[in-house]
Parts: sequence; C-alpha cells; structure tokens
Amino acid sequence: MPRTATARPPVKRAQPSQPEPRITHGERVVDASTGITKMDMVRYYALVAPLMLEHLKSRPVAVVRAPDGIEGQLFFQKHEDSDRMAGVLQLDPALDEGHDPLMEIASAQGLRSYAQMNVIEYHTWNALKDRIERPDRMTFDLDPGDGVSWQEVQEGTLLVRVLLQELGLPAFLKTSGGKGLHVVVPLKRLRDWDTVRAFSKAIVEHLARTIPERFVAKSGPRNRVGKIFVDYLRNGRGATTVCAWSARARPGMGVSVPVAWDELDGLTSSAHWTVQTIAPRLAAGNTPWDGYAQSAATLTAAMKTLDFA
Ligand code: ATP
Ligand code: MN
Repeated sequence: MPRTATARPPVKRAQPSQPEPRITHGERVVDASTGITKMDMVRYYALVAPLMLEHLKSRPVAVVRAPDGIEGQLFFQKHEDSDRMAGVLQLDPALDEGHDPLMEIASAQGLRSYAQMNVIEYHTWNALKDRIERPDRMTFDLDPGDGVSWQEVQEGTLLVRVLLQELGLPAFLKTSGGKGLHVVVPLKRLRDWDTVRAFSKAIVEHLARTIPERFVAKSGPRNRVGKIFVDYLRNGRGATTVCAWSARARPGMGVSVPVAWDELDGLTSSAHWTVQTIAPRLAAGNTPWDGYAQSAATLTAAMKTLDFA
C-alpha cells in the first residue's frame, strides 16, 4: 500500500507568554580553550533548564558574569537592580536590607535573559525565600590542596559520607565542575544559620581531628598541601555554592552534576561532564538525587552523637 498523501495534523507549539529575550553577539567566544560561544551557552542553559530550575526554585541566587569571556574579568553579582529581566524575580528587599534586591531565577526565560547578560555560573543559598532564616541544607565543599590525587578526593568523599552516616545524616553528592566535590545534607527547616554553621564546623573539625593525614578544617593554601580542606563556611547566612547544572567559568567549562554514590568511583574528575559532553547525561537528570526531599533531617540526634553543645 502506498504510504503517500497522509495529511499530517498541524504541529501545535506552545506559545511563550512573553517574547524570548533577544540574544546579541551569539558568535562571541566565551572559552578560547574549547571555542564555546555565547550562543552555545544560551543553548546549554535551554537544554538543562528543566533539570536546573528544580535546584533554583525559591532560592536566592548569585551569578558569575563573564562579559569578556572566562579569561577576562569575572563579576560576582548577588543583587539585581533591574525588574525588567524576563524570568528573573527580585525578592523581598527585607531579605537583604540595604542592598538592591536578591534575585531568583524563576523560569527558563530567566536563564536566557542572564545568558544574554553573559552569566556563566549560578550559585544558590542554603535556604528558601519563604523561610530565609532556617537553612534547608548543609553543604560540605571538599577542596583538595596541592598534591592531592583524584583518587584521594574520591576516598576522602567516601570518608565524609561514612561520618555523616554515623551521625545519621543523609548525604547527596555532586560534582562541582571544578576541582573538588560537594556533599549536600538536606535539612528540615528548624535550626537557624548560626546553629547549622557551627554544627557543620564541628563535623569538619571532628573529621580533621580523626583523620588528620587526610583532612584539614582550616582554610588557606599552606594548611592544605597534600590534604583536603572541607569548607563549612558555605553554611553561613548569605553564603552560596554553585548550583547543580551550572556551568563553570573555567577552561573546558565543567558542569556541576548530581551523582549517585555508586557513581563516585567511576568519576574521572569533578569536571567529568562539561558543557560539551553533557547531552548523554541529561536522561539521568536529577534521578541520582531521588529521595532528597523526603530524607530531610533534623540535627538533634547528630548533635548528641558528636557531643555538640
Ligand atoms: P572547586 O571544586 O574547584 O573547589 P567550587 O565551586 O567548590 O569549585 P569555587 O569556584 O572556588 O569552588 O567557589 C567559590 C565559592 O565562593 C562559590 O561557592 C561562590 O558561591 C563563592 N564566591 C565566588 N566568588 C565570590 C565572590 N566574589 N564573593 C563572594 N562569594 C564568592
Ligand atoms: Mn570547592
């Protein structure tokens, strides 16, 4: 039977409610080491938007802009003075008194608006805007010092997981897209910033006391040689950590990706995935963090275990 003349139904496209922000100078090279252009970044963020928006939702965000490419001057921006950026919300000024409002990326349009403004990285707070004084997670940033091998980073990350397990705390892993790894503990929104920060410090100090040949709790490159600095300072009010699915403004343009614990061993670096290699990972999406929200923890028992007064 001839398969001709079958009229196709007209394709229905969802109409965006606002016009798409216009992109100019899409041909400009952002990363000379790969040739990635501004338009590549626009496309990258359109591609990851559905996955990334889950991590951006309701959170104050800070961004890194690279108007002259990633080798030019980078600008870390925590506030938004314009209310005309499609998809970017200005948050209640009371959240950060004395400044322009904090911002939130509320839709894929926001990612596009900011890509037009040469935004490369997105960093989020550990709290949601509707309860800003009660953090909903604790972040441990593992920063390897000089001379630490990737295998030692992998081992160190497992040790952090074991300690958190002993404290009865859930832990989720993501690549940073840079050098180290990020371990995230989802929390019930009960404690204030000072408590969460002080307790995360106690956890890191315990780790550094217990395994001093592997970890340090003090920052500064000298302290770190041959060791992993576990940064708890990401847990203070207003501190930020790179958002899952954000690209990094570094040569090669790694991406921060949620991973399952059984994938840690197979990672080749924290920039295991990059803007150019991310496509096959999109299907896994956020599934490595399945159960994240349901596992949000209270700290009372962990504090007792660690003799945290
Ligand atoms: P790596 O794995 O390579 O350590 P990372 O994301 O953990 O990557 P950095 O890129 O060094 O580490 O991130 C620095 C952190 O400090 C980010 O989480 C960011 O939110 C914050 N930050 C970066 N620049 C500034 C700045 N100018 N002012 C305040 N905070 C900043
Ligand atoms: Mn780090």
